[in-house]
Amino acid sequence: MTALIETRDLQRTFSVSVGMFKPRQTLHAVNGVDLSVQRKDVLGIVGESGCGKSTLARMLLGLTPPSRGSVLIDGQDISKIDRRDLARRVQPIFQDPYSSLNPRRTIASIVSFPLDVLGVGTRSERRKKAIEMLERVGLPARYADNTPGQLSGGQRQRVAIARALVINPEIVICDEPTSALDVSVQAQILNLLLDLRKEFNLTYVFISHNLAVVEHIATQVAVMYLGRVVEQTQTAELFKHPRHPYTQALLASVLTPEPGLGIPDMGLGLSFPDPLHPPTGCSFHPRCQQRRPECSVDHPHLLRDAHGEVACHLYTAKT
Ligand code: SF4
Repeated sequence: MTALIETRDLQRTFSVSVGMFKPRQTLHAVNGVDLSVQRKDVLGIVGESGCGKSTLARMLLGLTPPSRGSVLIDGQDISKIDRRDLARRVQPIFQDPYSSLNPRRTIASIVSFPLDVLGVGTRSERRKKAIEMLERVGLPARYADNTPGQLSGGQRQRVAIARALVINPEIVICDEPTSALDVSVQAQILNLLLDLRKEFNLTYVFISHNLAVVEHIATQVAVMYLGRVVEQTQTAELFKHPRHPYTQALLASVLTPEPGLGIPDMGLGLSFPDPLHPPTGCSFHPRCQQRRPECSVDHPHLLRDAHGEVACHLYTAKT
């Protein structure tokens, strides 16, 4: 079956200035990522900040072109899809609803904006559709003529969701959509996204640093570390039998009182390695308590088996 959204050997590098009189260096933000998401699935992508997940999100949206590899929708390379058609099919929900909403426009005009761009219906029809969508995401019509500054963080995120869904996309790329919100509001927004997924047959790619959030919403999970996927499997399997030492450490962080703080210091060290100078061999080896002599030399390739995919010498050694 053709995946609805798929990446093949996706790579993105950036040329980075490291100081005057020094040659620019190449940063591998995303480094050979293969993902495949079936229609109505929710792929959770987790990892610490700097692991490349937001760059990956921008490539899935067609906002950042890959340096190598491709993003396919229904088997078609998105670089060959007309921008408007792509926007009709793929919509984003970003982390900070305040900065992603124009503070000078009314809520109704923000939500109807994608309809304006696509030239759908008359002005009053577009406003009516926007208000219907606002009500569907839990914002009564009386908010239609407010501005974003008059709303709470959770209400603003509902506006961002309404704006993303008003043109009936197939795929929604959610980049940390709840991490700027209070914990109680996070749960409401996650449950809303789950309801909307069923109602509108949506497919989500859900990016988060927080495995607890991903467990709640995702059907499968990909764990990223320094631009690569190190483990990918069904959500229940990942939480029952995490295989990669990095996934195990992330899971342990879920058990801490403040999972939003990210990975705890479990003897691995808190410092994320410099992506400009990635370690040799397995990029996790400086923090890995299970490392072997070969780990600092040989890069572990992704092993695919009945449990999913994992890139670690602990497993490749068994084959
Ligand atoms: Fe740890 Fe080695 Fe596996 Fe990397 S390949 S995660 S260093 S055991």
